[in-house]
Amino acid sequence: MTSPMTSQSIPRIIIVGAGFGGLNAAQALAHLPVEIVVIDRQNFHTFQPLLYQVATAGLSPGEIAAPIRSILRSHKNIAVFMAEVAGFDLARRVVKTSDSEIPYDYLIVAAGAAHSYFGHDEWEPYAPGLKTIEDALEIRRRVLLAFELAERQAASGEPATPLNFVVVGGGPTGVELAGTLAEISRHALAHEFRSIDPARTHILLLEGGPRVLPAYAEDLSRSAQEQLNRLGVEVRTSAIVTQIEPGAVDVGNTRFPATVILWAAGVAASALGQRLGARIDRAGRVLVEPDLSLPGHPEVFVIGDLAALKDEHGKMLPGVAPVAIQEGRFVAKVIREEINSQTRPPAFHYWDKGSLATIGRAAAVAQFGRIHISGFIAWLSWLFVHILFLIGFRNRLLVFIQWAWSYVTYERGARLITGSTYLPGWASDQPPAPQHPAESDAVHPL
Ligand SMILES: Cc1cc2nc3c(=O)[nH]c(=O)nc-3n(C[C@H](O)[C@H](O)[C@H](O)COP(=O)(O)OP(=O)(O)OC[C@H]3O[C@@H](n4cnc5c(N)ncnc54)[C@H](O)[C@@H]3O)c2cc1C
Repeated sequence: MTSPMTSQSIPRIIIVGAGFGGLNAAQALAHLPVEIVVIDRQNFHTFQPLLYQVATAGLSPGEIAAPIRSILRSHKNIAVFMAEVAGFDLARRVVKTSDSEIPYDYLIVAAGAAHSYFGHDEWEPYAPGLKTIEDALEIRRRVLLAFELAERQAASGEPATPLNFVVVGGGPTGVELAGTLAEISRHALAHEFRSIDPARTHILLLEGGPRVLPAYAEDLSRSAQEQLNRLGVEVRTSAIVTQIEPGAVDVGNTRFPATVILWAAGVAASALGQRLGARIDRAGRVLVEPDLSLPGHPEVFVIGDLAALKDEHGKMLPGVAPVAIQEGRFVAKVIREEINSQTRPPAFHYWDKGSLATIGRAAAVAQFGRIHISGFIAWLSWLFVHILFLIGFRNRLLVFIQWAWSYVTYERGARLITGSTYLPGWASDQPPAPQHPAESDAVHPL
């Protein structure tokens, strides 16, 4: 691929990453006399807050993702390229992909974050994390496959292997995964098996710190734990995982059997941050100036999960969608003012409108400043906010209908097992583990 545009007359802005930050920056810049190039390694934007619904078969991938091209199609000055950005040459002002170098006048890097296994990458094949649509489908596959394997084993007269699902990490993702798994096993699947009782599935949530949802107020953490317990989830706090193997999770000397292990414990910023040559923090986030620019490079901005910036109280801004959205819009404003009047707003301020975490059906917690809500009302607020912010009207309407239907019927319509039928750690006559089970498309007969 050669450089796609060569016009020198108007500034070219390259945006790396079409997540919440990148898309909002692109949309806010689109009305300026500029060329915008959006580069993403995928051709779709993922609404990550609803990934757990895909992982637990409540929604299908197309209901929480939308093609980047179609989101941006009305802006004639935006070109979209599907490409993996490999690095940058800040001195020459070019972005490097595997087969091209694209020059820019302004650069916005919004490449997000990935899983972190705290130096134990060998755990990943046994404990997938939830960050992408592919991750969600792999988790869905393992969860549903576990029930199928157990049913077949029990039907053949073998002693049934108890089903144990272990979720590592008690942040919002771990809490929503554990709560929803409990709901599925106790309701959605309860009457569909003949030889096993899915309601007997044991769901264990392990949190290394002293409480779940550590970013929330203590009363909401307590409430979240109680709501999890009511759904049938066993919660263990101060439980630091020391080893993960196929079929088992260790916390110190205690070993927990695990049919399916899910990782929701750590995130690290995209490796692209390191390629900018600036200082990064322990999580790989780029330490940016108050206006989100790169030190020494006022024409380069880093936003969203990849940026490390503290608020006016010295507290690090969290890796959540509203931060990325507001940062994307702010950076667009900086560029607009510089182009129009040669001035720049000095600093980004995050407007925290509150936090919501869902736990399961009619179970959630919400924190709006000093107002703390739990249970059904919090869940309704969560539902409203998440449907409101879904990209694309078609998705919003479909998702709403889908949810309303599953609320009434407990049905989870996307219960498809696709790809491999290998489950790491399952004791019976499984085929040998492929090198990368998540990527394998070989179908092994049961
Ligand atoms: C399971 C889950 C649940 C969440 N729930 C919530 C929630 O309920 N509420 C909330 O506020 N936040 C939630 N978050 C966090 C929120 O999704 C993130 O804070 C937000 O997506 C960050 O936006 P971003 O633009 O920085 O990055 P992202 O939205 O992650 O986008 C990054 C983009 O960059 C692209 N990219 C990465 N590397 C490259 C490369 N080398 N070349 C080209 N493209 C690249 C990716 O494909 C992606 O499209 C959740 C996150 C997860 C994973």
